[in-house]
Amino acid sequence: MSKRIALLGIYHESNTFAENPTTLINFQKGHSLTWADIRKEYQHAHHEVGGMIEVIDRAGMDLVPVVFSEATPGGIVSAQTYATLQAQMMDLLEEILPVDGVLVVPHGAGVSEDFPDMDGHWIRAIRDRVGPGIPIVGSLDLHANVSPLMVNSADAFVSYKKNPHIDQWQTGKAAAEIMVGMLEGNVQPKQILVQVPLAISIEQQFTSNEPCKSLYALAAELSETEGILSISILLGFPYADVAEMGTSLIIVSNNDPDLALQVGKRLETYILDNRASFVGTKNDIATSIQMVADREKPVLLLDMGDNIGGGSPGNNICLLESLEADATLKYFVCIYDPAAVQAASGYQPADTFDLPIKGTGKDGLKDLLFTVSLLRLSDGHFTEDNPRHGGQVNYYMGKTAVVSRSNGSVIMLTSLRVPPFSLGQLTSCQIDPQSFDVIIAKGVIAPIAAYEPVCRSIIQVNTPGVTQADMTMFTYKNRRKPLFPFEDP
Ligand SMILES: [Zn+2]
Repeated sequence: MSKRIALLGIYHESNTFAENPTTLINFQKGHSLTWADIRKEYQHAHHEVGGMIEVIDRAGMDLVPVVFSEATPGGIVSAQTYATLQAQMMDLLEEILPVDGVLVVPHGAGVSEDFPDMDGHWIRAIRDRVGPGIPIVGSLDLHANVSPLMVNSADAFVSYKKNPHIDQWQTGKAAAEIMVGMLEGNVQPKQILVQVPLAISIEQQFTSNEPCKSLYALAAELSETEGILSISILLGFPYADVAEMGTSLIIVSNNDPDLALQVGKRLETYILDNRASFVGTKNDIATSIQMVADREKPVLLLDMGDNIGGGSPGNNICLLESLEADATLKYFVCIYDPAAVQAASGYQPADTFDLPIKGTGKDGLKDLLFTVSLLRLSDGHFTEDNPRHGGQVNYYMGKTAVVSRSNGSVIMLTSLRVPPFSLGQLTSCQIDPQSFDVIIAKGVIAPIAAYEPVCRSIIQVNTPGVTQADMTMFTYKNRRKPLFPFEDP
């Protein structure tokens, strides 16, 4: 009989500094998939689940996708929400036991009210249920904050190696190949975790540029070592006040933990020796707008403090206000404001009217009033077929209004928070990205995969918010110590 492998995932990146908790409705509006719907959504997606499906199918084994729950990054997952999701996962797993293996798909930076190490908690529960003899192999986001509990509960983890995450499919494939190797008796993975006493500033986490480029090149070289199955560098997610926040390394060996540790220590030494380069410099709003003058247009302005993919609200207006005050640049911005969508919905295309927009300014929520013309209303659905950060195919931003200012600047207002990971967000509303001087994207690195084909230059802007780039501005109570740049290791 062919081997049967369950696939299970609760996938959330939780920002413990964000005000609003993430609840069940956020998962329902994201992806709450079970059984055949998982295959339907991801089989042809540039997503880790797609890579896993491909490998297991090809090996002639029986993949049983059980549950995959995912919500847009946001605040801490409420206790009730996590209890519901985890109970559902365990109940559905029970229906198909016994299995020969389990593939797990966490993000790696999930935090719930009850369990700061949410991913460690649910993966341990699976281990306890299936027992020590059943292989558990998983994928991880490169922004995972990895705990010993996570690593001790599974046989092997493989993380994305690219940021923006355009290699999610390849990551799922690599994880599933380890699973197949175990079930066929060809490998005996033993993994080790090195929690580096350092956290990398978010804007320095672009894997195509230095300082990460050389770090990943070294890891690729070390991956060729006989006996090493996989090297994962988890750059870490700074916006979580948890013990495991920071950069870590997972080295998977073929039954040789000493070798794994040796490779891990080599990489850790490299990171610590080069630690000054992982801090970076930050450009404030005024400097960034000045920099636009000399750049080829359109310029991508990355609104780092309102990084939706890092859990921010998606309604920061600091850049918008500065561009309005400057008045020389034709801009595009997308703001999450369901009330403004509602207000604009009462008008017809080409109508001109005063539209109130509520957004987060430097000192908190603020009302703005703009004279705008309605360009169009949309149902908010769009699709993405290219490999893009997040690996999603079907996007939904809720009812959406697109309005223009007298100089041709365009403001898109959405009813749901949607990270800017696809140009489809604009093109589905007949907006030409190349018609602007600047495009504001609420992110740090992830949007680059979508916008690089149309933006001639990129500026990361140090805006305020719950994803502000300078992590030393946050108060952490639970992080490990010492941790550079807070302390010298
Ligand atoms: Zn990530």
